[in-house]
Amino acid sequence: MRLGIRTGHFYDGTTAAPRSNVTVVIDDGRIAQVVAGDASVEADRTYEAVSVVPGLINCHVHLEMNGQPDTLSVYLLRTPIERTLDVALNARLSLEAGVTTVRDLGGAEASAIALRDAVARGEHVGPTIVPAGRALCMTGGHGHFIGRETDGPWDARKAVREQLKAGAGCIKLIATGGVLTKGAVPGQDQLSEEEMRAAITEARTHGMRVAAHAIGTNGIKNALRAGVNSIEHGHLLDDEAIGLFKERGTYLVPTLAAVWRIYENVSSGAQPGYVVRKATELFEHAGENIRKAWKAGVTIAGGSDAGTPYNRHEDYAYEVELMSTVLGMTPQQALTAATATAAQLIGVDAGVLAEGRPADLLLLDRDAGADVRALREPRVVIKGGAVAHERA
Ligand SMILES: [Zn+2]
Repeated sequence: MRLGIRTGHFYDGTTAAPRSNVTVVIDDGRIAQVVAGDASVEADRTYEAVSVVPGLINCHVHLEMNGQPDTLSVYLLRTPIERTLDVALNARLSLEAGVTTVRDLGGAEASAIALRDAVARGEHVGPTIVPAGRALCMTGGHGHFIGRETDGPWDARKAVREQLKAGAGCIKLIATGGVLTKGAVPGQDQLSEEEMRAAITEARTHGMRVAAHAIGTNGIKNALRAGVNSIEHGHLLDDEAIGLFKERGTYLVPTLAAVWRIYENVSSGAQPGYVVRKATELFEHAGENIRKAWKAGVTIAGGSDAGTPYNRHEDYAYEVELMSTVLGMTPQQALTAATATAAQLIGVDAGVLAEGRPADLLLLDRDAGADVRALREPRVVIKGGAVAHERA
């Protein structure tokens, strides 16, 4: 299949100046050419778009969760079979909304791992999936109802080996308490630095990258010193943590939408009191702290924690919007965080549009560089050089 796309604004995913009036030629799954002007190209189909951007990459999702107001209900009231169906549904909804790659950071079953393989074989419709399997948490720690409880460095190594055996493509560690687990305090440490270091050493041996859920100040620094690739959330970071991020080149995935969506839906009354209380507290600090980190030069990659309360998989554009409005990124910087930078973090060949690179891209009705909300409801989603979705 050979496609030709004429566009007024071409964003390659990096912060390089966008190109105006080009024709993108896609052949055999890859970008064959990007030529200036309305060059007439031979193609099976031709399209026109106001702007073209890379397919979005969401570095933090939970495909088993749909955005239910009480996350625990996903695991108490739904069966593993229902959750597996939801994984397939959420994958399809992500792709139709322009998310062509996701990193799944933890679930109860291995459905996301199986779906990754089924999508790769072309049997199911969905984004490229980089799954963590089950998250490693301390006994009784954040997410223990779906995680692999682990205590001590050798058990942490064993827990990593179990995820490897299950087919995981990366590892998720729980460094502090979190919002959605009753009794878990976001500000308190959970897995120790020593346990995380052991897990990371084991993961590296097998070529796996490691993400750490870390909200509390000290736990963020424990995870940074242990050597994780990314801090997820990071809401209570301080100046010392900013120094460690920069010194070690660690990425920050701020998941602003997770906090914002809980906060915006408090009046529904459907969320547990402890969730509302903890998220409201974080809401007051998260924007300011993450903005400070961004201004200080910490590398930020896009991830929304999709699946958490009212935070739907097809709504990733909202996270990109928040990175712009809350953190002060230009629309193009926010787009880069959700494409090229995200791809670097999770290690996938995607996120940058250039000759020879895979053709995962979106055709938009407006200029994404002028208004990041243009990312909502892309007109055409192309993944691997094929049209995955076309808006009716
Ligand atoms: Zn999460």
